[in-house]
Amino acid sequence: MAGAFWCVVEDDRQGQPKKVTAELIGEARRWAGEVGGAVEAVWLTDRAAPDGLGQLAAWGASRIWLWEDAALAPYRGETWVPAVAELAKRESPRAVWGAVTSRHRELMARLAARLGAGIAADCVAFSLADGQLVATRPVYAGKLLSKVRWKTGPWVATLRPNVFKAAEAETGKAPVVERQTLGAGTPATRFVERREEAQTGLPELTEAEIVVSGGRGLKGPENFVLLEELAGVIGAAVGASRAAVDAGWKPHRFQIGQTGRTISPKLYIGCGISGAIQHLAGMRTSKVICAVNKDADAPIFKIADFGLVGDLFEVVPLLTEEFRKLKK
Ligand SMILES: Cc1cc2nc3c(=O)[nH]c(=O)nc-3n(C[C@H](O)[C@H](O)[C@H](O)COP(=O)(O)OP(=O)(O)OC[C@H]3O[C@@H](n4cnc5c(N)ncnc54)[C@H](O)[C@@H]3O)c2cc1C
Repeated sequence: MAGAFWCVVEDDRQGQPKKVTAELIGEARRWAGEVGGAVEAVWLTDRAAPDGLGQLAAWGASRIWLWEDAALAPYRGETWVPAVAELAKRESPRAVWGAVTSRHRELMARLAARLGAGIAADCVAFSLADGQLVATRPVYAGKLLSKVRWKTGPWVATLRPNVFKAAEAETGKAPVVERQTLGAGTPATRFVERREEAQTGLPELTEAEIVVSGGRGLKGPENFVLLEELAGVIGAAVGASRAAVDAGWKPHRFQIGQTGRTISPKLYIGCGISGAIQHLAGMRTSKVICAVNKDADAPIFKIADFGLVGDLFEVVPLLTEEFRKLKK
């Protein structure tokens, strides 16, 4: 519908929209309420589960533009971008939003270029000025916050996960699905091989309700196993500080903070992490913060709800053991 807020669905590759999609829809509903327009979902996938479609409707997507085609997996910009761009030219949405995830970052930038629109990447807040949306985004690795406006529509943006309030699901809303077909054309790139990482069985960092995070205090990559054991018992994801990532102990996608992931779990447990401001930037909205550090003056204790002054090599195995007993 012309003037709609489009939320591009980020999914789990198994047919279900991820939590960040609820955040996009929640924020879009807020601004659609202010400036007018419907909130619609745009989903490109090789499989859309019926309850996944229902979930989008429950979050508040009044219509779902759906391309369901094997050619859409894995993500390829050259396949995805023309599909959305053509529809956008026909439907004239007011805004097109994606998430700050690896594939959406590329998709949205290419889409903005194709539509001749600007992109506000990595947004953390929105406001209104003269009826126009203003996006707030961190720049210079988070040292400054800049406010930007679009000269021409649509308002293309990517939104940082775990920053915006997710839409609450409402029951009794049947999904209105507009099935789309991919245009003909032979892609210039060919899918050759997919290599999957060994599954840890632990939840994904940005989706998890509990996160156990390790820093330089772990002393080496081999000691992350202590955190993984604890995480396995309490159903947590494992994260890391930049010091641990820079040392090569964990890949960058595990990094929490200003130049890593933003998380907002129900429980965060930081082990051997000092609590530098850049780390706090990525986890300070966690509901309950626990810290294990042998230095009683470590800054992380200033924001921790529960602090344990002690050697993590003694404390963490004890915690794991106690949780294991409790679960039995
Ligand atoms: C532009 C910029 C962006 C940045 N972005 C990020 C970011 O996104 N994320 C991030 O994390 N950092 C970021 N940093 C780096 C940040 O400033 C800190 O250097 C980093 O967070 C420190 O990591 P750490 O807490 O693991 O290490 P340290 O600061 O070295 O702290 C290690 C802690 O472990 C404790 N410890 C040691 N041994 C034990 C033990 N046996 N038991 C218990 N405790 C122990 C120590 O007391 C200490 O408090 C950024 C910096 C800059 C300049």
